[in-house]
Amino acid sequence: MAEIITPTDVACPICGEGTLILHVEDDTVEYKGITRTIPSQYKVCTACGSEQADMDDLRVNKRAMQAFKKEVEGLLTGQEVKALREVLGLTQADAARMFGGGPVAFSKYESDDVMQSEAMDKLLRVAAHIPSAVNFLHYLAGLSPVRQIGPWEPVVIERQHRVESVLSEEVLSEHEPQPWRDVG
Ligand SMILES: [Zn+2]
Repeated sequence: MAEIITPTDVACPICGEGTLILHVEDDTVEYKGITRTIPSQYKVCTACGSEQADMDDLRVNKRAMQAFKKEVEGLLTGQEVKALREVLGLTQADAARMFGGGPVAFSKYESDDVMQSEAMDKLLRVAAHIPSAVNFLHYLAGLSPVRQIGPWEPVVIERQHRVESVLSEEVLSEHEPQPWRDVG
């Protein structure tokens, strides 16, 4: 990618004279022995010429780096997490209730602000491949199923004031795993 230059109407916070020009250029980064070129942005003042990175630039650059790290780690990218959530018909809030991670977890995973844990990644893949696991997670979260995937009669047991549900192997084996295609 060649360098892209875009004028903005933002006044330079350093000299107050000029306006800032957005520069986006290639940056070669390395993570765990793997090298990649990712976009990196900063701004340059038309008057004083100072190069500066504001909060927006830092956020965008951090997201590009996180996306690259997720790829190296073999984790679902933000785009893939979003696609998976949408296939399951979940809002970000419902996805957090089902899978955990806190109320804004999915907004952060999907924008590549945060790298999901390996455990979260595996749970998402389980949900993507095993329809009855989705039903089960719906049930645990107290959500009504967004779609009827198959006959599923949860066995409810009381254990230390906690209601748990047991899914029989028989029910699981009724569902052939659906391979989940990577997006992008
Ligand atoms: Zn300036």
